[in-house]
Order: sequence, then C-alpha cells, then structure tokens
Amino acid sequence: MSLVSSIDTAEASYIETIKQSGGLPFRVSSYFASLAKPDKTDPIRRQFLPHPAEDLPDPFALSDPLGEALYQAVPRLIHQYQDRVLLLAGGTCAGYCRYCFRRLWINQPKGFISPGERIPVLAYLKAHPEIREILISGGDPLMAEDGLLAELFKALRDTRPGMLLRLCTRVPITNPSRLTPETIRLLRTYRPLRMVIQSNHPRELAEPAQEVLTACVDQGIPVHVQTVLLRGINDDAEILATFFRECLDLGLSPYYLFQLDLAPGTAHFRVPLKTGLTLYQELKNRISGLGLPVYAVDLPGGGGKIPLHGGVIAGEREEPGGTVYLLQGPDGKLWPYPADKNQPE
Ligand SMILES: *Cc1c(COP(=O)(O)O)cnc(C)c1O
Repeated sequence: MSLVSSIDTAEASYIETIKQSGGLPFRVSSYFASLAKPDKTDPIRRQFLPHPAEDLPDPFALSDPLGEALYQAVPRLIHQYQDRVLLLAGGTCAGYCRYCFRRLWINQPKGFISPGERIPVLAYLKAHPEIREILISGGDPLMAEDGLLAELFKALRDTRPGMLLRLCTRVPITNPSRLTPETIRLLRTYRPLRMVIQSNHPRELAEPAQEVLTACVDQGIPVHVQTVLLRGINDDAEILATFFRECLDLGLSPYYLFQLDLAPGTAHFRVPLKTGLTLYQELKNRISGLGLPVYAVDLPGGGGKIPLHGGVIAGEREEPGGTVYLLQGPDGKLWPYPADKNQPE
C-alpha cells in the first residue's frame, strides 16, 4: 500500500491548496511512498504528507531560520564557520520533508549549480585557504546525474586538492537505487569525502537503504547520520535508541540530533525543548556512547549550532580537600570533581 493511494479527500484538497498558494510542494519518491503504511500516524506518511496544521500561526517562525542570508559569501555559498563552508548545490529533493527549514530555497526555481555559478564559488575557495571542508548540500546534490556531480567534484578538487568534501543527502534513504555501484565508485574517486545522511526513524532503514549505505561504508566512504527530533514521529527514547543502535550496526555514525528549526509551517513538529532534553537523557542512559548523537540546535536567526546538553556543572561546594564542582550524573545525582583552582601547578 503506497502513501499516495491512501490519501483521503480532505488530504487531497489540502495538497491542492498548497499548489495554489505556492507552498512547499507535496513530493515523495515512489520507493519511499511504498514504505509508508496507510495509517495516519505512520512516521513516513507524517514526514511527507502535507497537513493543514502547516497553516497554524506561529509567532516564532522565521523565513530564514538559520540566518543563512547573513553569511552568504557569494551566491550559493554560505561561510559561517571559519574552516568550513556550505554550498547550496542542488535545487530539489527526492521528496519534500514537511519540516524542511530550507523551504524558501526549495521554492525558488534553481537547478543544480551551473558552470557559471561555480566560478565565484571556486574563486572564493581559492582566496580562502582557511576553508578545509565544503558541505555539498541544497536541495539534494544526489538529484543531479553522475556527470554533473563529477564535474562539480572535479572543479572543487582541482581548485582545492586536499579539501574535505561532505556530501549532505537524504537520497540513500528516500531513493536508494540512485546510488548505483558507478555512483559509489565516483564518490570514492573524490575522497577525502564523507557522506552525511538525514534519517529519523528505524522504518527508514529498509533493506534497500541498508544495502547502499553499507556499500558506501565498505568502499571507504564514511557515513554520518543527522536526525531531526520530530513530534509524533521519533519523540520517544525507545524509538531513538532503536534507530541509533541500527545505525551503529550498519557502520553509520550518529552525528547530530537536531532540535527543530523555526521554519514557517513546522511548529506542529516541534518537541518542546525541555521534553527534548529529558528524552536525550533517557537516550543517553540506554545506548552506547558510539551511538549517541550530539543534541543540538541551530540558534534562530544565525547564532550557529550549539549543543543543548552542556552545562554539566550544576554547582560547587567546599570539601575538606578544597572546592569541588558538582557534576550531574546520568542518574541526576551530583558528583564532586576538583574545581579548577585546586589544580596543582
Ligand atoms: C551546520 C553547518 C555547518 C557544519 O557544521 P558542523 O558542526 O561541522 O556539522 C557548516 N556551515 C553551515 C552554514 C552550517 O549550517
């Protein structure tokens, strides 16, 4: 049963409303739609099927939730952190996640980066040797054919031979057959290259996705996983634990668990911050450190990414040996650790 054939008339009419209003289009690959169950609470269905809750007013919504416009170095290139840049290479995705924070970008009629658009990007990379890594994102870069990808990778490599390429993509999850053995070989050619996928729920790690992701890892392409914490989808410690354990078993490295960005039309997916922190603590108590992502938020309006679970120093007190900090353990209890001023010279 595919997601598309389970759409009822109210849902169909909302999809039509979006078409008229020019909102983020409804789109899901036929492969991914086939993974969804017709049940309205299905985690795949919920991530892709438009819902009227997207029209609820949200006083906190920001059209550019990460403040990317502030850091645009040249068109399509965002330079926010000293040693790495983000390239908006792709203009489309295999499916549109309803919680997308780059929905404005997606709604512009931009295709894959053209040779003309590459020129200022390459010039900027050449002029900024402090940049050691480029995130190739979009839209999904793997929507481009191998020939176009190879042209981009080659241009980047020729300009900056040692620079780490970080391919940011959801295609291995939403349309795994796109990663043919030739594509994986192509990625191999341009190492150092790492892949960062976005995936949120154990159900997304179906057999075809598992196959291509393990093939990447086997071929020497490390794969990292970014997950978005989503209400009604994965806001459950056991679901998250199952998901990250499966990632580990497949050789994928959990990287970030993101608190939702403040994109318009996404508030119904938001897990309250304190609920998120509690969930994260439960998750931490359940799984291996190797499987634990960093729970982080991109500060609204351009403040950058910060981990949310810092602040372990809960207080300090005097002990016979001197001052100690009180560190919060997984059980919530406070444990003493010598304060800085006790450090012997
Ligand atoms: C997230 C992000 C990066 C990468 O940050 P990491 O913490 O290294 O994953 C780089 N540039 C921009 C603009 C980003 O949003």
